[in-house]
Amino acid sequence: MEPNFFPGEFYLVKRKFNPYLLERFDIVIVHCDKHNSIHLKRIIGIYSEKISYKKGILYINGKKILEKNVIHNKNINISIILAENEYFVMSDNRENYNFNCDSLNTGPVKVDHVLGKVII
Ligand SMILES: [Zn+2]
Repeated sequence: MEPNFFPGEFYLVKRKFNPYLLERFDIVIVHCDKHNSIHLKRIIGIYSEKISYKKGILYINGKKILEKNVIHNKNINISIILAENEYFVMSDNRENYNFNCDSLNTGPVKVDHVLGKVII
């Protein structure tokens, strides 16, 4: 999650929160089935939204969204419509996104896979 979060840092995580009411750009802890592990991710898309990320630019329902402090990757070209109770999560560093366990690689995250909300 560089350049905003670095390995070895500690964060306050709220475990009592409503996973249905997360907002765009919230930082969350998500459970990953593939590694049976948890990862720190940023909420990018919320239920039923159309998410596109093309040439380093994020679009939500066709509208350009400015993301601050993100390492972009102009080679990513993705477009997806979220179902109910799904979030689209990404890492802040998308340079080597093939190694990121996020929605670019493993698809949207179900709401019950969000285990905590990070408070900064
Ligand atoms: Zn994973």
